[in-house]
Amino acid sequence: MNIVLLGPPGAGKGTQGERIATRLGIPKLATGDVLRAAVTQKTPLGLEAKAAMERGDLVPDAVILGIMKEALAEPGSARGVVLDGVVRTVPQAEGLARVLSELGRQVDAVLLFEVGEDELVRRLSARATCESCQTPYTGREPGTKCDKCSGKLVRRKDDEPEAIRSRMRAYREQTEPVVAWYEKRSRTHDDPNERDHNGPRVVRVNALGDIDEITKIVTKGLGK
Ligand code: AMP
Repeated sequence: MNIVLLGPPGAGKGTQGERIATRLGIPKLATGDVLRAAVTQKTPLGLEAKAAMERGDLVPDAVILGIMKEALAEPGSARGVVLDGVVRTVPQAEGLARVLSELGRQVDAVLLFEVGEDELVRRLSARATCESCQTPYTGREPGTKCDKCSGKLVRRKDDEPEAIRSRMRAYREQTEPVVAWYEKRSRTHDDPNERDHNGPRVVRVNALGDIDEITKIVTKGLGK
């Protein structure tokens, strides 16, 4: 099952994505994690992406498509993959559909995590993230240790107020149209002329509230 997680930064895609991937026994691809690791290791990919990421802007579609293509060709992802933070633009959605179709696969479900912008800004401003395993913690001080791997918690550069504003703008302007793009192709779309019978199921999730409750809603929405 190939699942796309959509939603603004701070909506909990990473946390829920991890749980879904574990439950279904498939890998999770988080482009943000791949890019941050590349920045830390100063690889050519990291050097290309660093400035845009720190500003809170999106990195170019071609870069993301390259990462996606490589990850989807891995034998480990043949049974499916949870895509966290990919796709973020319509060209990426088109590219993903093309790559999957070349592999005889398709996007089966799109989970849309919905949270108001005020709450997102509150969460991101109070967030510290493990520099080793990327686990986010709300309300913990940078410099303290990760519960999972004892790595150091740091404030991500793009969790500073200026970058948060850019990320919200990028979401509104570039990612929200992706929601409409999938809904148009969705199996649950009302207009039979627009609907693609192999299109994904689009599930809207109110991502405000208890993490375990949200996991229950998500797994039910996936029929798992
Ligand atoms: P995230 O960890 O998902 O919040 O991603 C952190 C940053 O990585 C984003 O603000 C972008 O700069 C970049 N990024 C991650 N995924 C994508 C994507 N699919 N398209 C463009 N930029 C991305």
